[in-house]
Amino acid sequence: MAKSKIIVIEDEPDIAEMIAYNLRREGHKVSVCRDGEQGLSRIRTDNPDLVVLDLMLPGIDGVEVCRMVKSDPVTRATPIIMVTAKSEESDVVLGLKIGADDYIAKPFSPRELVARVDVALRRGGRQVVAEPGERVVRGTLTVDLSHYDARVDGEPISLTPTEIRLLHFLAKHPGRVFSRAQLLSRVIGEDAVVTDRNIDVHVRALRQKLGEHDAVIETVRGVGYRFAQDDA
Ligand code: CA
Repeated sequence: MAKSKIIVIEDEPDIAEMIAYNLRREGHKVSVCRDGEQGLSRIRTDNPDLVVLDLMLPGIDGVEVCRMVKSDPVTRATPIIMVTAKSEESDVVLGLKIGADDYIAKPFSPRELVARVDVALRRGGRQVVAEPGERVVRGTLTVDLSHYDARVDGEPISLTPTEIRLLHFLAKHPGRVFSRAQLLSRVIGEDAVVTDRNIDVHVRALRQKLGEHDAVIETVRGVGYRFAQDDA
């Protein structure tokens, strides 16, 4: 993969160093900023290919940095991966709503970080999965990809970005069977550094969160998965 310019905004020196070290090892050009203000001005002057953004920052916090980057036409297309602690889940939802591209929860492995960065860089400003505003309604289920919002009977269900993309993709093609490899490339990104079984893990998590509606995702033995046909 071509070398990319990446800005890491993280105030904890150990984590910043770990992120920078692993991305540099992949050949990327990495600069580290310690707070939101510095990060924002750097994004404006350097025009990076990607930003890795910690949410808990001194001064301007990560969500605000994300909002400012995504509301400025000049910087809007820059992919942002948020770095979060588990306790910041509501900030993650907010961040995704205002345009962050993905998030990674602490503690994470270098391998996971590199994989997420690769996917976000490859996706870049392009819309691989859907047009903005794309919304699928199936029975009592609504999946709105542009807002990363999924609801059953009007009640929001808390899904990860990957689970949302997976559910949206399947629901868009009810009755059609997709292999694990197809789902991997459509939902996670081509040549993702993950195995076919990874899809099983996402499907399992997704079904759990769908609760009594889990039957909408059907397993087709030896083939893959499909979204159940609407009741005739
Ligand atoms: Ca922090």
